[in-house]
Amino acid sequence: MKNSIINNFLEDINNNSDLKDQLRSACSKKKNLYDFLSEDVILFAEKLGYHITLKDCLDYQSDGNLGFVKLRKEIFFSPIKRLITVISSICFFMISISVGLSFLMNQNKHEENIQNLDTKEKSNEQDSENGDNAEEEPHEVVGALDFSSKKCGYDAREIAEKLKKYDYSPQIRVPGDSPKKVVFLTFDDGPSLTVTPKILEILGKNDVKATFFVVGEEIQQKGRDAILKRTLNEGHALANHTFAHDFSFLYPKGWLNINNFLLDLEKVDIALKNTLGDKFQSRVVRAPGGTDSWKGMDALEEYISKQNMALIDWNVVAGDAETSRKSASQLLSRVISSSRDMSLVVLLLHDSTYKTETVKALQEIIDYYRKENFEFGILV
Ligand SMILES: [Zn+2]
Repeated sequence: MKNSIINNFLEDINNNSDLKDQLRSACSKKKNLYDFLSEDVILFAEKLGYHITLKDCLDYQSDGNLGFVKLRKEIFFSPIKRLITVISSICFFMISISVGLSFLMNQNKHEENIQNLDTKEKSNEQDSENGDNAEEEPHEVVGALDFSSKKCGYDAREIAEKLKKYDYSPQIRVPGDSPKKVVFLTFDDGPSLTVTPKILEILGKNDVKATFFVVGEEIQQKGRDAILKRTLNEGHALANHTFAHDFSFLYPKGWLNINNFLLDLEKVDIALKNTLGDKFQSRVVRAPGGTDSWKGMDALEEYISKQNMALIDWNVVAGDAETSRKSASQLLSRVISSSRDMSLVVLLLHDSTYKTETVKALQEIIDYYRKENFEFGILV
């Protein structure tokens, strides 16, 4: 079994409470989750004679485990937390008996917002068929909440393939549908405290969904978790734009460093799960700077396709990240002139701090695509 090293290590720890305590205390001083996950655990394992590499962790994840997150749960679930869980389970059980199963859904208010929404959605779907499913666990959320994926979600792998072949023909979303013109509004480098909420407001007013390629370091800034949750809850898709967006780390001297890149992706996954719950995952990735800007990207393409993920660039830019700052009207005319004769558009925009011209241009960008009979899709 290819991940036996991690399984053996976990078994060792789980079967020996002394070791478990030692590991906990070795990690308890760390404030940053990633520090102890990526370094302390592995150093500790090293001391026990287990040489765990990043690849082992990624293999472990690809086998259907949650990688580092699972490690955290299995090893770092502290006795206090466990006690709280046991007590709340007992309360939960008693309440569910006394009040009845139909009331059970209302007892989960302390759950993460995402789980609430998901459960509500699921129970709405199932109410008419079967009232006994109220206990069902919230299911996995891939990229966006189900209601939105069902309405306007496109398989990002297919769209990425079409872009690579410069095939911008109309797109069929669900088998049997007629081909449609579709535009994907994509916002990179956020979330920000200033720009993202304004963008969400405009999108909401127009009932348009978009895809946000978020940066891990931004997610961790104060106040951003609420914006991230809002983005997901309002039906937008979230995708991975690496943790630090640091060209010199990801592509030293212009060449992809695959280990650094994968480590950065993993860190974003963990940050997203920390904010949105362990059930959330995204399989859509955008390489900072775009794949064409760097050498040695084949290794990443290969990894992404093996993992059934999507690595996607864009085919239209508004120019809101260029060194010479563009006005809203310049952004709009660039969008219009570049989208001409296209039926498939992946538009690159940014929602990082100071992208105020993007906010100003957004309504007219939406109006333009509406007038041209485009549908708005999300990448999942
Ligand atoms: Zn970027």
